Amino acid sequence: MKARAFAYARPRTLGEAHAAYAGAQGDASYISGGQSLVPALAMRLQAPQVLIDLAGIEALRGVWLDGGVLRIGALTRHAEALTDPLICTHAPLLAAAAPFVAHPAIRNRGTLGGSVALADPASEFPAMMLAMDAEMEISAPEGTRRVPAGEYFQDLYQTAIEPGEILVALHVPAVGPRHCWAFDELARRRGDYAMVGGGILAECDGGIIRAIRIALFSVGPTPVRARGAEQALAGRAPDAEAIAAAQRALDTDIDPLDDEEVPAAMRRHLARVLLGRLLRQLEIAR
Ligand SMILES: Cc1cc2nc3c(=O)[nH]c(=O)nc-3n(C[C@H](O)[C@H](O)[C@H](O)COP(=O)(O)OP(=O)(O)OC[C@H]3O[C@@H](n4cnc5c(N)ncnc54)[C@H](O)[C@@H]3O)c2cc1C
Repeated sequence: MKARAFAYARPRTLGEAHAAYAGAQGDASYISGGQSLVPALAMRLQAPQVLIDLAGIEALRGVWLDGGVLRIGALTRHAEALTDPLICTHAPLLAAAAPFVAHPAIRNRGTLGGSVALADPASEFPAMMLAMDAEMEISAPEGTRRVPAGEYFQDLYQTAIEPGEILVALHVPAVGPRHCWAFDELARRRGDYAMVGGGILAECDGGIIRAIRIALFSVGPTPVRARGAEQALAGRAPDAEAIAAAQRALDTDIDPLDDEEVPAAMRRHLARVLLGRLLRQLEIAR
């Protein structure tokens, strides 16, 4: 199948992009890396009248550190999460997740903003926004606002971005010397979407977990914080007993849907296995 014919706009500013969207009476799609949108167009799952290419908007580019918070422009490519020195140093969970996202060709085009805007529940980067307590900067015609990750992911492919709004940047608190982290996923083949995946960001002191955020993906319609598991670990060393308590707590933290490929019971089991692996990685890193 081929995409339906569409008009193409390449705005230079956020204002021009909003004007292009309004000019199409909302029958428009923004495109960043195109790695999810182009297949959707080709399969006619989406057929907008106008494609608004965000690539020319300078405000969506760049990575810099400002007052302990890393500002990552939405157009930052997946591949840059692997190589950008600021991301590798201050947001290491993104660098740890990046090799698991698709394949090199897709990582060279796909953007962090596109992934977080799409919010596929099986995607790595959106869940890491939750683990890192990031804020999403969203532009509307009236101005920009910042939405914490905990409020940003609302339902299946549904985020705080309203129709016509643009994700401008991801704001990630930089890790400090006491942070440790771990990322892993279980997929049938490397590069496939994960059956279950997750990332952990913890503050450790003398081998004890002082604060911890655990975000899992592919276990529900949105990325999920494993709050019961976090509670089971706070104030403890991640020893065998604490890990077992956290794994038990997962039973109430997640409520995976049944599907033909991975039944809910299997996903629950895989989530427990994955959490154990992640916490053992943390122990090594502390
Ligand atoms: C074979 C294959 C395997 C893949 N495997 C994985 C995987 O393992 N893990 C994974 O996470 N992803 C995977 N992907 C998806 C890939 O990572 C996409 O690149 C990513 O999900 C979207 O980023 P993009 O820049 O390409 O966005 P686009 O495809 O350009 O856009 C995606 C959606 O987001 C909207 N959008 C884009 N940018 C913005 C913005 N700044 N503001 C508002 N809305 C915006 C678009 O309108 C569109 O609806 C895979 C893709 C393919 C083709």
